Amino acid sequence: MIIAENVEKWYDNNFHVLRGVSLTVNRGEVVVVMGPSGSGKSTFIRTFNALESYQKGNIVIDGIRLSHDLKNIETIRREVGMVFQQFNLFPHLTVLKNITLSPIWVRRWTKAKAEEVAMQLLERVGILEQAHKYPGQLSGGQQQRVAIARALAMQPKIMLFDEPTSALDPEMVREVLDVMRSLAKTGMTMVCVTHEVGFAREVADRVVLMADGLLVEEGTPEEFFNNPQEDRTKKFLSQIL
Ligand code: ATP
Ligand code: MG
Repeated sequence: MIIAENVEKWYDNNFHVLRGVSLTVNRGEVVVVMGPSGSGKSTFIRTFNALESYQKGNIVIDGIRLSHDLKNIETIRREVGMVFQQFNLFPHLTVLKNITLSPIWVRRWTKAKAEEVAMQLLERVGILEQAHKYPGQLSGGQQQRVAIARALAMQPKIMLFDEPTSALDPEMVREVLDVMRSLAKTGMTMVCVTHEVGFAREVADRVVLMADGLLVEEGTPEEFFNNPQEDRTKKFLSQIL
């Protein structure tokens, strides 16, 4: 579970990028975050796994308070997996090594155990036959599925997705969304920054709109897309629908 209360952040001590953002994500919930470019979506969700510090407010992840100075970074990173727009795979390592690296180093698993789990995950995301290739030999959709498998290998309780399909060719978007959809069905707690409206309608428990460093509106997909209350949301939806 994630509890973020009045989170405020400044970049370079002057740019107020998060201006008091509160969001609770319950266990097993899927929350989709939408909003215009530059509104602070990435910055906000990156605070949940301590990729960004923040200066005011509170963030509590499964009962662990994320200190402003990122002291308990290790514990949090084990609990919270993240998938990025640009995959961020290690190019010089095979798919299998990409996935087993963290479990071996951080979780102290044996190579055999890490590889067994990695192969199960590769099967789950539908690319078992790619295990011994390098990232550069895979399609974008396949690389992103490796990135998801890599995050899942750490057995996180929460998964963050930051525009995981934005860098993909259209025909590859679906295979990644399918993996995310089936992950949601397993009861994973997920926060997804995405503008995939079909995914949000079908999978999200709640959709939130972020604009100018604030959460402007929050609702079920039905409420959010069919009956938005705020002008800012209406304007945003008119641009993407
Ligand atoms: P997008 O939809 O384009 O990904 P976003 O909503 O994810 O946008 P952020 O990446 O969180 O937005 O950025 C919010 C604001 O903070 C932007 O104005 C951006 O220029 C600024 N910003 C982001 N990272 C930094 C940084 N490291 N230093 C200074 N400013 C930054
Ligand atoms: Mg972003």
